[in-house]
Amino acid sequence: MRLKLQVHLPHYITKWFPLAVWRMPDDSKTVYLTFDDGPIPEVTPWVLDLLRKHTIEATFFAVGENVFKYPELFEQILEDGHAVGNHTYHHLQGLKSDNSTYYKDIVEADKLIGSNLFRPPHGWLKRAQYRYLANRYKIVMWDVISCDYNQNITKEEVLKNVLKYARAGSIITFHDSLKAANHLVWVLPRAIAALKAEGYSFSKIEFPKVRRILYSPPFPRMRRLRANLRQLSLWA
Ligand SMILES: [Zn+2]
Repeated sequence: MRLKLQVHLPHYITKWFPLAVWRMPDDSKTVYLTFDDGPIPEVTPWVLDLLRKHTIEATFFAVGENVFKYPELFEQILEDGHAVGNHTYHHLQGLKSDNSTYYKDIVEADKLIGSNLFRPPHGWLKRAQYRYLANRYKIVMWDVISCDYNQNITKEEVLKNVLKYARAGSIITFHDSLKAANHLVWVLPRAIAALKAEGYSFSKIEFPKVRRILYSPPFPRMRRLRANLRQLSLWA
């Protein structure tokens, strides 16, 4: 069975991963914009400019190899006050990866991103991966996926879907990726304007780091420490 376009997730999918976050508390009229797959120079700075213009804080689920390639963009995201989350190092699909490869990839990304939030690429995990990761990260899914990457639908449909399904507490997923760019640049400003007009405010996703079990083995931390000491001795 092929799932049809799922803009708004049906209830049974959210039950499959009960420890994941699908929607934030809806006690205030707030929505949570999220951006996956960046940062990349072609799209992310444009997103950051737009968010700055509207004083919106959002959440970026970054891909480790992009953070490695464009550290200054990642720094800019943090400097602008946004939250960041881990989206693996190589954008690996859990269902197609063996568990140890998948976890190693996440650890590699963690060294650069350092977040207690994790979003699995393509939104799916094997049960064992889900259980393992839920003990170490807050797994953040979504309530509304914009399908901005989908070239088989029009930009008008993307916008209509976002506005139709957004509600208080919605986690809305966009992509700062090349694949989504041509939809995104048209949809995002309009979605923000319309949601504002409907009285929504915007927030980033944050959770206290209570559940996190430190992943990094002592070795990289020792290496960092030694590097710092070397630096110090240069100045001494
Ligand atoms: Zn992704």
